[in-house]
Amino acid sequence: MSDNQDNVRTLLKKAEDFLKKKKVPSARLDAELLLADVLKVQRVKLYVDFERVLSTPEKDQYREKLVERSKFRPTAYILGKKSFFDSDFYVDENVLIPRPETEELVAWVLEEHPNKEDSIQVLDLCSGSGCIGISLAKARKNWEVSFSDLAESAIAITNRNAKQILGDERKIQTYLSDLFESIPISFDRIVSNPPYIPDKEKPEVMDDVRLYEPHLALFLSNFESFHNRLLTEARSHLNEGGTLYLETHPNWSAWLRDRGIQIGYSKVIVRQDLSGKDRFLKFVK
Ligand code: GLN
Repeated sequence: MSDNQDNVRTLLKKAEDFLKKKKVPSARLDAELLLADVLKVQRVKLYVDFERVLSTPEKDQYREKLVERSKFRPTAYILGKKSFFDSDFYVDENVLIPRPETEELVAWVLEEHPNKEDSIQVLDLCSGSGCIGISLAKARKNWEVSFSDLAESAIAITNRNAKQILGDERKIQTYLSDLFESIPISFDRIVSNPPYIPDKEKPEVMDDVRLYEPHLALFLSNFESFHNRLLTEARSHLNEGGTLYLETHPNWSAWLRDRGIQIGYSKVIVRQDLSGKDRFLKFVK
């Protein structure tokens, strides 16, 4: 075993200790992800080449990234990418970092649409990185997928990811729109992970999230009024028999189910996430 101070093994250990001392969650994983990025290898490859010695520029780059992480900047923003479902998405501070729960939402929608040949109109509402709609479009080649977001910077990233992951030939439509305000057409399916954390929960949110992720994508000053609007406008933008799939705050799912029925949806289903929380809803027109 080499005792070179500048090899992968030693530097990873030092980086992990440094991040732990700064109270960064997932210190070891982040130390590995950041080093893999500097060395331009897959994370698992680090273990194959544990004795590799880093050059001075590589060490400098690694140090810079670790310092950013020690200030709680999320690893996905430092790397400029996040894996979601079966693709890597470009992300920066203008969009939410895709979450594993949202992968469950995508999987649920696909599970309910096993026919790969169907051609339907689908909207990813509040698209951010575009992770939901792009993953659906990749899995269902005939779906016509549209995206909407309130932020121009998010729409730019949706477009960038769609081009990168789906290719130039796949036609998609993007709308810069405050909910449905600028969307002139209707859909068979609407899928959305809208902002759903009430402002008063801000202090409980981790530093990584609160300091760096876009508040517009996360927080709401008035959950009820935003969601009343969302449910009502979605219903009028659904074709007969169409459905809305929503990710939400587990404390609000019962309220949303009741509101959905009052607003006139014929059926509302609540579904739990893998940790047993009432995270998802389906509203049938
Ligand atoms: N649809 C994106 C995601 O799930 C963005 C969500 C949002 O901005 N609220 O990551």
